[in-house]
Amino acid sequence: MSPGAVAAGGAVLPGIASLALERAGLGDIRDKVLAGERLTRVDGRALYANPDLVAIGALANVVRERRHGDAAYYIVNQHINYTNVCVAGCKFCAFYRTAKQKDAYVLTPADVETRMRQHLDDPVREIHMVGGVNPALPFDYYLDVIRAMKRVRPEVHVKAFTMVEIAAMAENFELPPATILSRLKEAGLGSLPGGGAEILTDHAHQVLFKGKIDHRAWIEVAKTAHRLGLKSNATMLYGHVETIEDRLDHMILLREAQDETDGFMAFIPLSFHPENTRLAHLSKPSAIEDLRQVAIGRLMLDNFPHIKAYWIMMTPRVAQAALHFGADDLDGTVVTEEIFHRAGAVSPQKVAERRLVDLIEEAGRVPVERDTLYNAVAPGRETALGVDGIAAPPPAGPAPRPASLGA
Ligand code: SF4
Repeated sequence: MSPGAVAAGGAVLPGIASLALERAGLGDIRDKVLAGERLTRVDGRALYANPDLVAIGALANVVRERRHGDAAYYIVNQHINYTNVCVAGCKFCAFYRTAKQKDAYVLTPADVETRMRQHLDDPVREIHMVGGVNPALPFDYYLDVIRAMKRVRPEVHVKAFTMVEIAAMAENFELPPATILSRLKEAGLGSLPGGGAEILTDHAHQVLFKGKIDHRAWIEVAKTAHRLGLKSNATMLYGHVETIEDRLDHMILLREAQDETDGFMAFIPLSFHPENTRLAHLSKPSAIEDLRQVAIGRLMLDNFPHIKAYWIMMTPRVAQAALHFGADDLDGTVVTEEIFHRAGAVSPQKVAERRLVDLIEEAGRVPVERDTLYNAVAPGRETALGVDGIAAPPPAGPAPRPASLGA
């Protein structure tokens, strides 16, 4: 393939990047990507092992632009964490509490309703809701919370519950996951956020999160949801005890599941944030590692439509850069987030739509407001929080990263 090669779909790999890939011994991978061929585990290994991040990012950018051109997506959303009580005890989690701890809480459906009413003036399109694995809650609680949400905002998309929470409900209420999902869907559930995946290998499960489902169960619940018409995302928490082989296992497992169901919307690499966790002795992943993971995620997950650079985890500035390393989505305005805040995140809890738009435009991309299912939303309406509502600008230095997305 010659320098300045044009990939299928019209996206161009700059000649200098093409040469850099050749010099780095990645010419074969470059040619496969430009031809639209699937990368193998061996290719993935080679990408992780290669120090030329800029060349790898340029290759991922070709894939990103082939799919989305210059578009960069965001959503106006509200996060609600309905309980922090959890029996799973994951080592990387700073959010959970035991039921007896004094700051343990469970929001009632009325509490959830109140939180939503506080933001009725904001054009929130999505509620993102996750919580701990709390066996004290009856099934009606989950249904009532969703019904309360739809009562307050009938038009809102409820994206709620990780595969872990669904599996725990199935176990607690002695019902198949498909029945749990169907009833939640009837109550108003629109999709699943895709958290709780962590690293989908036996090694990570044994070391980090033995108290919750393993990768077999996670994938099975995801595929069940997809077959019921519930789309989801898929996260990957990286930068702790996992190996490169673990990361490749994780992505290849997701890719194979996606071949079966086509139900995943976005891959969301989550940068580990060790503060206030039982892994506080570990270092945070660097910005370089964050960008490398975004790029390799884009290259390996050829059947995932979107790669999300979740600004709360990555910091706004790294997420902004990630828009040139394979990512096409920054997530949302995220009104009220508790899980990450517990883990010491200093990113502002409220980032106005205007600020997200600015981040995208500063990166030379075209902001596209989306709904949960990645349909573009018509422009021309009022912004979510207005210029006066803009929170502090993104921190200049590296920000602590959050630990988990909840269950
Ligand atoms: S990550 Fe989720 S399942 Fe694990 S302890 Fe935290 S809240 Fe519980």
